[in-house]
Order: sequence, then structure tokens, then C-alpha cells
Amino acid sequence: MSSTFSIHPSVDNGFKPAAKDFAGGTLVCKCTQDPVKVSIKAQTAHNHACGCTKCWKPKGATFAVIAVVSRDKVSVTQHAEKLAIVDPKATIQRHACKGCGVHMFGRIENTSHAFFGLDFVHTELSAETGWSEPGFAAFVSSIIESGFDPALMGEVRSRLRQLHLEPYDCLSPPLMDALSIQAAKLSGVLKS
Ligand SMILES: [Zn+2]
Ligand SMILES: [Zn+2]
Repeated sequence: MSSTFSIHPSVDNGFKPAAKDFAGGTLVCKCTQDPVKVSIKAQTAHNHACGCTKCWKPKGATFAVIAVVSRDKVSVTQHAEKLAIVDPKATIQRHACKGCGVHMFGRIENTSHAFFGLDFVHTELSAETGWSEPGFAAFVSSIIESGFDPALMGEVRSRLRQLHLEPYDCLSPPLMDALSIQAAKLSGVLKS
């Protein structure tokens, strides 16, 4: 099937496979001078394509590709002064480079959130290969909110399945379960 759209440059022609015992790498923003560098000292998890309107995506891509990693493994090693939080009120505080606009990491500061302790990162910003492969596509219907032609949604979902990225219109079932488990614990419905 020839596509008139790009899902994301890192998956359009097959994602480079994850490496065994992969220990991380360095994310570099797109600035040609004084780039921001972020060190990730672990393999990522839950890597996925995301169609929401908030995740950073490269030019021409329909989806972002984003993974999580323990926040204690994430550190800004160069040009932290160029980073600013895109929306301080958002659940995920995305730290973006003021020079090129790339989101270097997203962090949840609400300690009650199910995903507290995990940072969201785009491993395509690293020169290293071997990062965890994307396993599903989240918030697929939301690409319409970014201007994607609703008439092509069937084609997008088929293409995602062809790439082994099962399309969901929210998060994947395990992540949705994690959110509901946390909500049930906070409300007292579920005793931990
Ligand atoms: Zn930059
Ligand atoms: Zn997103």
C-alpha cells in the first residue's frame, strides 16, 4: 500500500530493532548551535506512536513517537538554560527547547498520578540505535484535530496495523488499566 501520509519517519520504513541490554543514549535537540542535550541512562518502555495534539512531532509526521523512562535516569547535560515548559498546567510538563521547539522530555509532577516517576521522551533525538520499539498507536482519532483528513482515517488505521502498531483512540489497554487502577485506589473503591 502506498501512503499519501507519513506515520512517522522512524516507523515508515520499519523501526530499528531494540538491542538486548541497551543502556540508553543522549537526546540532542535540532539547534545547529549549542544544542540541548539530555542523557537517558536506561532502556525506554511503552514506546508508541501518539496522535494527540500536544506531543512534539517532526515536520511532515502524522504521529509523534514517544516512550517512557524512569525520571531518575533522565538528566539535562547541556544547555538547560534553553529549556522552557510548554504548558505548566498540563498533566505532562513538556520541557521544550526555546531555540528549535523540540520537546526534550515530558515530566509529571503530580505525585498521585499513575505515571508519576516516568518521563516521556522521543528517542529519535538520539544517534544511538537499539531503543525499545514502538508497540501501539495512541490517540489515533486525535490526528483529525491537527488537521488530518477524516476521510483517510481508515487508511491510517490499516497502515498502523501493517506496521504492527495496533491503533487505539486513547492509550493501550494496560496503560488505561493503570490509570483506572490509580483512580480506583484514590477514590477508595480499590484497596491496595
Ligand atoms: Zn534546540
Ligand atoms: Zn501525545
